[in-house]
Amino acid sequence: MDVATRLRGCLLAGAVGDALGAPLEFLSGAEIRDRWGPLGPEGYVAGSWPPGSITDDTQMTLFTAEGVIRARTRIVLEGSVAPVGVVFHAYRRWYYTQGGMGLSEFLDGWLVEEEFLHRMRAPGNTCLSALNTGRMGTPEHPLNDSKGCGTVMRIAPAALWDHSPFGFNAFDEGVAYGAITHGHPTGYLAGGFQAQVIAELLRGASLDEGMDAAEALLRERPNHAETLAAVEKARTEAAAGHSLSGEVVERVGEGWIAEEALAIGLYCALVAPDLHTGLRLAVAHGGDSDSTGAVAGNLLGAIHGPDAIPQDLLEGLEARDVIEQVAVDLAAHFLEQREGIEEADLERYPAS
Ligand SMILES: [Mg+2]
Repeated sequence: MDVATRLRGCLLAGAVGDALGAPLEFLSGAEIRDRWGPLGPEGYVAGSWPPGSITDDTQMTLFTAEGVIRARTRIVLEGSVAPVGVVFHAYRRWYYTQGGMGLSEFLDGWLVEEEFLHRMRAPGNTCLSALNTGRMGTPEHPLNDSKGCGTVMRIAPAALWDHSPFGFNAFDEGVAYGAITHGHPTGYLAGGFQAQVIAELLRGASLDEGMDAAEALLRERPNHAETLAAVEKARTEAAAGHSLSGEVVERVGEGWIAEEALAIGLYCALVAPDLHTGLRLAVAHGGDSDSTGAVAGNLLGAIHGPDAIPQDLLEGLEARDVIEQVAVDLAAHFLEQREGIEEADLERYPAS
């Protein structure tokens, strides 16, 4: 499987996991398993929104993708610039889609015109309030002390920097994009970890190899103990060989906070015999099911590829065409050896 195919799997399965988990987010684990058994529902079920609806996790992932494409374009045209500032502008566009005001200077490109991205799907308070300040959080100048899972669930496209010649890497970029909105080290370090694992999976590494590579980078960072402990917990529980059930997932965490969402995603991807089982497992617990579905889906899709996603889940997925288009655009910009930037690309992804 080539990198572009794995990338398509990563974004699509992340969105499928998000949509599978969305109706379960506020059900208890017992309620979910009473109704659908230990692995939860096989397909999309009705909740606050129509079955197959994606949520803020996928919406923000698409804006992360837009940000990294636009950052790359700016680097090609203008030389060295820090991608994080461009990704911050992309998140400001996301904020505008959720009712944020006073951002007219940022409203260009094609993604912000997509009507479905303006639907309110329980956007995270930390993301909204951080972006409302108009300032960009950094690890040195955090805006808050949050370690909500909003960093991990949106970070997959940062993996592409590992597949580019510009001297940026997935881990550091993942950390920087997380810190835009989340000031607690565990929040942004978990984001960096997930981005690096995905970068390795896209190359064809095993999940264990990917986790080893990300762990080596994590250990170099200050304040990494909490994130490291969560990752180790995922590995230990996976090695214990429990039967596959959302109840066991709850031993790893609930997923509202970043290190638990990361650990649940990793645990489910480690133990899943196939992509569909892994996605179901990732949402069949009493915690933040859409975000853990998205995180696990990004990993499982990069491992197993888009063909492993059940056809009915793909067909019922909201905005599947846009998600696939963004995966194609990421691949075109980062994985094809292109010269310069074409005018049509600049229209869709301006260099700012
Ligand atoms: Mg969500």
